[in-house]
Amino acid sequence: MPKESVMTLIKGAKVLTPKGVVEGNVLIEENKIAAVGDVADKSDVVIDGRKKAVIPGLFNTHTHAAMVLFRSYADDMVLHEWLEKKIWPLEAKLDSEAVYWGTKLACIEMLKSGTIFFNDMYFFPPAIAKAAEECGIRACVSAAFFDFFNPDLLEENLKKALKDLKEIEKYNVLRAIGPHAVYTVSLDGLRRAAEIAEEMDLFVHFHLAETEKEVVDFKKQHGKPITKALDEIGFLSSRLIAAHSVWLEDAEIELLGKRGVTVSHCPASNMKLCVGKAIKFEEMKKAGVNFTIGTDGAASNNNLDMLEEMKFAALLQKFHYSDPTLMKAEEVFEAATVNAARAFGLKSGVIDEGYLADLVLIDLKKPYLQPEHNLVANLIYAASSGCVDTVIVDGRIVVENGYFMGDETQEIEIIEKTAKIALDLTN
Ligand SMILES: [Zn+2]
Repeated sequence: MPKESVMTLIKGAKVLTPKGVVEGNVLIEENKIAAVGDVADKSDVVIDGRKKAVIPGLFNTHTHAAMVLFRSYADDMVLHEWLEKKIWPLEAKLDSEAVYWGTKLACIEMLKSGTIFFNDMYFFPPAIAKAAEECGIRACVSAAFFDFFNPDLLEENLKKALKDLKEIEKYNVLRAIGPHAVYTVSLDGLRRAAEIAEEMDLFVHFHLAETEKEVVDFKKQHGKPITKALDEIGFLSSRLIAAHSVWLEDAEIELLGKRGVTVSHCPASNMKLCVGKAIKFEEMKKAGVNFTIGTDGAASNNNLDMLEEMKFAALLQKFHYSDPTLMKAEEVFEAATVNAARAFGLKSGVIDEGYLADLVLIDLKKPYLQPEHNLVANLIYAASSGCVDTVIVDGRIVVENGYFMGDETQEIEIIEKTAKIALDLTN
């Protein structure tokens, strides 16, 4: 006898569908959306959707989750001093246990603010994968590496990256290879990363053109723009998620579009670290670049709240280019949902029949979400994480009544553990 599948019904909600807001029910069968609208109740689990909106879960496409351990440890400093004096000495003390608990804290923070997927790059990938799987959040985990232009170090670190990739295969996560950036990895290292990604069917997670110094130094040394050099070694493809991508010429943006690259815009980090420019959203749109949003790590943000990040993205475009019509609420919302889902090959980010049940229930009784002239504008410009009531990932309820797994027990354990680890690291 085939096993009966589990049915979950969200009843009487305002559902954000591709056709606009529909009042009705959402039926979930196992991990997929079976029907939306006027659906009869034949389910095992019923969620009361009254006074709630159902929206697609959010995707954070660039972060270093475990850096929550360094949240508000060192702020208001210039970049190199901040890295050299504050962040790198602490990172040198990290171990797999610290990254595991730090990632868990990050996962519950993300889930509780409506994020159902994160694209991570940090040390100890197996610890990240384990934490993500245990928290029930979707993730793409990168095996990050540097070579500092030393061929021996490249061989050594690639070997380590391959070992990590093998080890995380057993977890329920997507995998990426993560050459850090052009100022920490040689072109040879980047070429090898692209080849490995092709052979092993991986994503590539990379920092691109974050600062002016990075692009000027590269051009001085190689006589061409970064993306041209990257294209020559086969690095630009639809596997690539390029974080930041701020300091790019129009011709480079066109090239990214042609090659099907996804960018991850990190507005809070860009503003806090003063990268001196805003991403060229309009040009990217024209060039067909897949545009998504990330929080970057909590040491430069200082939270992982995608609701807040979407607002920053829109405001930064408008302010920097002095044009309030740029980056409309709907465009930001698409960036944080369906565009990101597409980048990672997931049929998610949209509430429609056949899509993955990655859903967030928003409490519309919050004063800042009233009145309800426009749900998407309310989500982008007015919402904050306190309105997240329930989160469903892959058909499974992971946040209920605003709590991770329904009550405070696990949250308290994670918070206490990470507080102790963070204290030990800084002492
Ligand atoms: Zn980053």
